[in-house]
Amino acid sequence: MSRTIVITGASGQDGAYLAMQALSRGVSVVGTRRPGSGAESLWRLRELGVLEHPQLRLVELDITDGAACCALLGAVQPFALFHLAAQTRVAASFRDPLATAQVNGFAALHLLDAVRRESAHTRFVLASTAELFGDPQTSPQNEVTPLAPRNPYAVAKQFAHAMTQSYRAGFGLHAGCAILFNHESPLRDADFVTRKIAAAAARLSNAAAEPLKLGNLQARRDFGYAPEYTATMLAMAEQAQPDDYVLATGVATSIRDFVDFAFAAAGIELDWRGHGAGEHAVGRRDGRVLVTVQADLFRPLDAAALTGDAAKARARLGFAPLTDVRALARLLVEAELRRLR
Ligand code: NAP
Repeated sequence: MSRTIVITGASGQDGAYLAMQALSRGVSVVGTRRPGSGAESLWRLRELGVLEHPQLRLVELDITDGAACCALLGAVQPFALFHLAAQTRVAASFRDPLATAQVNGFAALHLLDAVRRESAHTRFVLASTAELFGDPQTSPQNEVTPLAPRNPYAVAKQFAHAMTQSYRAGFGLHAGCAILFNHESPLRDADFVTRKIAAAAARLSNAAAEPLKLGNLQARRDFGYAPEYTATMLAMAEQAQPDDYVLATGVATSIRDFVDFAFAAAGIELDWRGHGAGEHAVGRRDGRVLVTVQADLFRPLDAAALTGDAAKARARLGFAPLTDVRALARLLVEAELRRLR
């Protein structure tokens, strides 16, 4: 069987880590990029040192074009296809639900059908999401927790998720869903909350700078470290039997606690004062206001506190997230300090 994999969304956080991990094992990678995406979107592959790797080939693919998906699968005949490309922002999905449905939902069907028609041996792994659980009645969530998505991003992903299961059951494809809880890294987009916090902590530790402005500090997320999740997606494709797996740490952390961890990693202890929209944090040493809450940064429908139960992935895939949330915050801040230098 060919030792080539295809990764859609290879320029994203997970795509870049997955490409690096596969290349380091001698696997060739065909990474797809959306047509028209600029060279600047390749910064993650460059930062990981794999952009010029001789076994990495980047190709343009419109994942909403079924014929183009068939042509790629027919030509490459990969061992596995990791479908990671998506419109990944919940807020943007409210602004354009139709485009989100095409990219996050229907594109998965085009790719699954291209596998079925052109390369039925190819193993398919979907980047699914904990957002499918909506506001769950039970905690932690696992593979049998009922799905009740509440935003267009998650509804579109639910279509992709159900289609993956349907192609596995109905057509016998080796297809599975990685039900991903939040996983972070220095390769997040700069405006994503964890990276925004880490960058502000690094900046404010060096000099007088604008305070960090945040929305809902009570929001809680199950934060993991991205490379540990992408390595497990590779393991999913290598299993004899396809299945769906929750990937999560099982620990939910509030944004406020993440701020504390990140600032502590930058050498700043914080004291919190006030309530609600008036809440803010000052530096314990000098009383400087370093963090404020800004009402317009609250989401219209914030995600519930999701916590994942990854027991199945631990037992069958050897998933063992080693990076806890404090270590994760430290790692992000150290990367931002390096970037500042
Ligand atoms: P990311 O960094 O935002 O990367 C998204 C990728 O999708 C980029 O390569 C992007 O290309 C591509 N993309 C965006 N819109 C596209 C379109 N219209 N057509 C084709 N490609 C498009 O996301 P990530 O964090 O790596 O996430 C990877 C996958 O895991 C996504 O499917 C996401 O929904 C899912 N997931 C992630 C998390 C998490 O915490 N990271 C949690 C749950 C699920 P450009 O570079 O050209 O923009």
